[in-house]
Amino acid sequence: MDGDVGHFVLVPFPAQGHIIPMVDFGRVLAGRGMQVSLITTPFNLSRLQSTVDRIGKSGLSLDFISLKFPGKEVGLPKDCESVDVLPPSSDFERKTDFIVRFFKGVAMLAEPLEAYIRQNQQKNPNIPTIMITDFFNPWTRKISEKIGFPRFVFYSVCCYTLISDRIFSRGDLSGADDAISDLEVPRLTENMFFPLPEFEYMRSEVMDSDESADGILVNTFYELEPMFIERYRKMTGKKIWPVGPVSLCNKEIEDKAVRGSRSLVDDDKILDFLDSMAPKSVVYFSLGSMTMISVIQLKEIGKGLEAAGHPFIWVIRYDPDDPDDPDEVEEWLREDGLEERTKMRSLIIKGWAPQILILSHPSTGAFFTHCGWNSSLEGISFGVPMITWPCFADQFANGRFITEVAKIGVGIGVTEIIFLQNYTVECETIKKAVERMIDDGEEMRKRALDLSEAAKIAFDVGGSSHTNTSLFLQKSLTRVADS
Ligand code: UDP
Repeated sequence: MDGDVGHFVLVPFPAQGHIIPMVDFGRVLAGRGMQVSLITTPFNLSRLQSTVDRIGKSGLSLDFISLKFPGKEVGLPKDCESVDVLPPSSDFERKTDFIVRFFKGVAMLAEPLEAYIRQNQQKNPNIPTIMITDFFNPWTRKISEKIGFPRFVFYSVCCYTLISDRIFSRGDLSGADDAISDLEVPRLTENMFFPLPEFEYMRSEVMDSDESADGILVNTFYELEPMFIERYRKMTGKKIWPVGPVSLCNKEIEDKAVRGSRSLVDDDKILDFLDSMAPKSVVYFSLGSMTMISVIQLKEIGKGLEAAGHPFIWVIRYDPDDPDDPDEVEEWLREDGLEERTKMRSLIIKGWAPQILILSHPSTGAFFTHCGWNSSLEGISFGVPMITWPCFADQFANGRFITEVAKIGVGIGVTEIIFLQNYTVECETIKKAVERMIDDGEEMRKRALDLSEAAKIAFDVGGSSHTNTSLFLQKSLTRVADS
């Protein structure tokens, strides 16, 4: 199959945690000489502009195709084209309603996507189409069946969590399921979807979509979780290719700096800060691209980070619809004086942070994370042990994987979904977790560094993920030839 070229149409679900790894994998495929088109929408494209420009300069054959998002048609305000920018609401039912409308809008991309693919096939009849779709886009199935091209599903979730969710969905909460009875693992029964009736329907759609796919690509690497990968293969009966950690395709500082979006804080300022700190001394605190927390909670985090006495980078996102005054955080930061008091050892980033630029710096010593899988795998890839604070969905299982399976992190004891909990994690808990990790985390750090080494070897030429990508390419191009 050497020398064969396919046109890979990548369809991420519109959320940062889904778009970012798909862009990375698009770079991997384009680097292997494939033609890649990544489907997006105008708002998401504008956020990605710095990444698009970088890729444009690199000469890779990776295009971004922007389809109009039918926000108006599903009753969403302008530019609500990504989960993190859905109208904020402290009312859970209202929030759920927005999410359901959003999923509906995403599924309506089917029509323009089909038109784009047909048009492209007319223009380039000799280049076969192959689709790689996010697992959250089960509606893509109909397009591939109608036109007739191979479709592969992409997960940026580890196999441990995928197994856990499958067992949960079967309703066997004993953990003694046949499929795992010989795996000595902690409670493998976590729901990776939201606990809502609407999502139960989504789960069955996702399962059907996986079932009919030509194979499944997973952003993990074999050496990280061999027994879970094997077990997931067995459970699904599908071809499973672990091809990650895809974030490792970002080799240059500039690629790391613009990944996903550009930060309002200058990269040089962040690097100067990290350069001025001792090796492995800085705590990086971020709860990802979607988690909204209350002003009260934010204050506790600030107090905890300050009290721990170690250098820190704190990424702040807060819910502007919080019942408290939305300007309260700004006001508190100014008036409390935390920023001023800690200025020699802290950097506060409001909004987007260049996460892998920070994690890959030798001064970063701990990652306080919400356990989104991309963040978790990035922590692993750069050898940074973690303090885990899962907030919702797959994050609880990912957190368990970090603390109880890989043993490269400590939890802070949160067991409930952040939107549903009515308690606040106190500053003392945050302080103690930081102290435990920075002062006593040597063993965990060593394990994290070993895994980081294994991740790099897996992703490099000749490593397991690199080989799996070759096998996937072979399979997808052969499947085209066969059809
Ligand atoms: N990210 C980033 N800067 C931020 C927040 C997030 O670069 O300020 C990236 C992060 O590196 C990861 C992705 O956004 O690749 C978030 O995905 P994850 O699965 O960790 O969590 P989610 O945001 O989907 O909850």
